[in-house]
Amino acid sequence: MEKTFKKPQSLRDISTHYCPGCGHGIAHRLIAEVVDELEIRERVIGVAPVGCAVIAYDYWDFDCSEAAHGRALAVATGIKRVRPQNIIFTYQGDGDLAAIGTNETIHAANRGENVTVIFINNAIYGMTGGQMAPTTLLAQKTVTSPEGRQERLHGYPLKISEILASLRAVKYVERVSLDSPKEIIEAKKAVKLAFQNQIDNIGFSLVEILSPCPTYWDMSPKEAMDWIRDVMAKEFPLGRIK
Ligand code: SF4
Repeated sequence: MEKTFKKPQSLRDISTHYCPGCGHGIAHRLIAEVVDELEIRERVIGVAPVGCAVIAYDYWDFDCSEAAHGRALAVATGIKRVRPQNIIFTYQGDGDLAAIGTNETIHAANRGENVTVIFINNAIYGMTGGQMAPTTLLAQKTVTSPEGRQERLHGYPLKISEILASLRAVKYVERVSLDSPKEIIEAKKAVKLAFQNQIDNIGFSLVEILSPCPTYWDMSPKEAMDWIRDVMAKEFPLGRIK
């Protein structure tokens, strides 16, 4: 019991600013557990995004840097090249990684930077108030698509993981989910492998995590978990992409 619920050393004991039912807290904990288990707490450097997780560094008890909106992989590239002995990861949402940061994301991946990317896909902009994101599903209602996303007006949900997997320099891409304990266990395995790849100098690794945003999906936390499994995972299939 103690082993299961003990707070990871890499996680600080502070109150959360996330909404009830948000997935960010689970994802933060998975990263902290992996950092502890791989014994890289003194070597790891996280790069925080702009978005709801803008103060992610408040929750982790290891070194972190902040990046301007969308630029986390440019910052991670710089840190890794100057300090190759460190383990560098970015933590980015869909607005940060797949909208304003698409340029930095694709080029860092195409260069095969030996970094780890944790990509939180909740199909909406959270921090700024529930606007349509690149990953918003067709027919999904948001503040800026009140009648639902339409392909004719807004295009299709962007499958950034599949795009990145097509690049020769990218070594590992997997999509996981936080919708159940079973999937959370799978998510942790993927996060651990993405860090292990960097330790082993294998190269660019990305884990996309389907994560609930009950607040701007206008759902209860349980409905949000069910929606990931029943709707979102049909558009964004789980599993190893590369
Ligand atoms: S707005 Fe959504 S993503 Fe942001 S903290 Fe709240 S539930 Fe989480």
